[in-house]
Amino acid sequence: MIRDIERIYGTLLDRQYQKNLFKDLKGFQEKGTSHIACCPFHEDEHPTFLVYADRPEYFCFVCGARGDWLSYLQLKTGMDFFGALSLLAGEAGIEPIAYDKSAWDDELSRTILLELMAGFFTTSLYSPAGEKELFYLYNRRYAMGEVEGSSFGFYPGYRQTREYLMSQGLTDEFLDEVLDAVWSRDAEEFRLTIPYRDTAGRLMGMIGRDVTEKGPEAYRALTGLSILKDAPFLLYKYRGSEDLLVVEGLLDALLVDRIGLKPVAGIGKSGLSAGQCDTIASYGTGRCILCLGSGIDRKEQMLQAADLVESRGMQAAFLPLGEEYEDLDHFIRATELKDFRRLLKKTCGREEFMRG
Ligand SMILES: [Zn+2]
Repeated sequence: MIRDIERIYGTLLDRQYQKNLFKDLKGFQEKGTSHIACCPFHEDEHPTFLVYADRPEYFCFVCGARGDWLSYLQLKTGMDFFGALSLLAGEAGIEPIAYDKSAWDDELSRTILLELMAGFFTTSLYSPAGEKELFYLYNRRYAMGEVEGSSFGFYPGYRQTREYLMSQGLTDEFLDEVLDAVWSRDAEEFRLTIPYRDTAGRLMGMIGRDVTEKGPEAYRALTGLSILKDAPFLLYKYRGSEDLLVVEGLLDALLVDRIGLKPVAGIGKSGLSAGQCDTIASYGTGRCILCLGSGIDRKEQMLQAADLVESRGMQAAFLPLGEEYEDLDHFIRATELKDFRRLLKKTCGREEFMRG
């Protein structure tokens, strides 16, 4: 099961609780899908304080204040950690267990560090060093604007990353403690970076892809990801949507997300796990449309996933690819957008899937 804090944040984000929490700040107003306000942590006449809509976090462009809703409540109201946690849990209607201040401290440091790194990696993708990775994305049928709008990045190496983080004011002590605990240093070949967010949108991990490799060996977790094993990839964008397309592979999920025709989440090669299925169900999804690839093994995996989905009270459906397409990514790259639209209309139930 996903942790309570993730579910508390996810549930409150679905209700746009940030509008409530930050509404008293001077100049609080909508800015795109997010909100801005005058920063409560420095003298501020113009709104420089960004309140995100897709994660429980804030950031001030001027003084650099960063944190999550729990830190905001503590700093702004003087509440202690447990007071803040109880307040948010109460608002979400969830009783919090097994989350303490030191776990929260660790996760917040990790998130802040990874957000800084992700920003640096995104910029680096457009530097000469990131050329090979950028080219790889274009070859995979990402249009220029799509790569820019996505969160891909280029990892320039440990030393360069550490230098960048120091230039952003992080101290050696912090980096020795947090960066080295989070970051895997033996993965320097896995340079195309894909951020992995928990179901509340908090950046908790990073996957690297070696663009010269194929298959499962091409991917490596650049951070310890065990805390995310029950959080399907991209689910934070589509919590509780009536229909959810469940696909195999991170890049497949990102591609479907960019196309924007269907809410999507990605899972790994070993199929849908009970924990992932529980997570999807806990946010109130009505129907999972399974598309894990073609071939006998994949078909078997999809039927097993359907059993799991139904056992959690959701409907299961199937998206059958022709045998000529290995997986959804292959289908999308080999066909036109209208073919993908047509494919979505072929969503079917178990009997038809077994016959076909
Ligand atoms: Zn500020």
